[in-house]
Amino acid sequence: MRNDIERVLIDEASIRNRLDEMVSEMDRDFPEGPIVVVILLKGALVFASDLLRRMERPLEIECLNVASYHGGTESSGTVDFLDRHFPEVRGRHVLLLDDILDTGRTLHAVANRLREEGAAKVLTAVLLAKNKSRAEAISADYTGFEIDDEFVVGYGLDYRGRYRNLPYVGILKAGVIG
Ligand code: 5GP
Ligand code: MG
Repeated sequence: MRNDIERVLIDEASIRNRLDEMVSEMDRDFPEGPIVVVILLKGALVFASDLLRRMERPLEIECLNVASYHGGTESSGTVDFLDRHFPEVRGRHVLLLDDILDTGRTLHAVANRLREEGAAKVLTAVLLAKNKSRAEAISADYTGFEIDDEFVVGYGLDYRGRYRNLPYVGILKAGVIG
């Protein structure tokens, strides 16, 4: 698996340090009391797991399956909600977690849906944000790292279902994609 990586973009120590900072920012912004954390599967799993273990506030975890990429390296343009049930968020403070902000469609669609369902407040956090103009004019309230517009894997992000368990974010060798 590691042989398929051309270069490491963000190493483990950098991720650890940044997560510490992000949690301090979140603790400042959310009022005291319980929140609902909504994790977008599967990409945000690793990010969420490391982030949430740094939080000391009471929280509940909900997971959502949405699809926009369908396993390739290009965004398909639509966001599908794949779950039969949507989490109960009426009147709740919600922290929405995704792995990466690319076109912005995913975060835009899910944040809107959470508001439609009556969430009192929705704040969004992504590990990565691609430095590009977006289909949806959205930015995350918390961004771990800004990166160039390249396809990345690791730390939750996959290529055709693989590489999510790499502990860092990296770029695949050209020969691996195809
Ligand atoms: P958006 O809706 O912002 O275009 O895309 C967000 C989703 O696309 C992310 O949750 C992620 O699943 C996928 N995605 C976007 N860019 C990348 C990338 O560079 N690598 C991987 N593995 N997935 C990406
Ligand atoms: Mg995703």
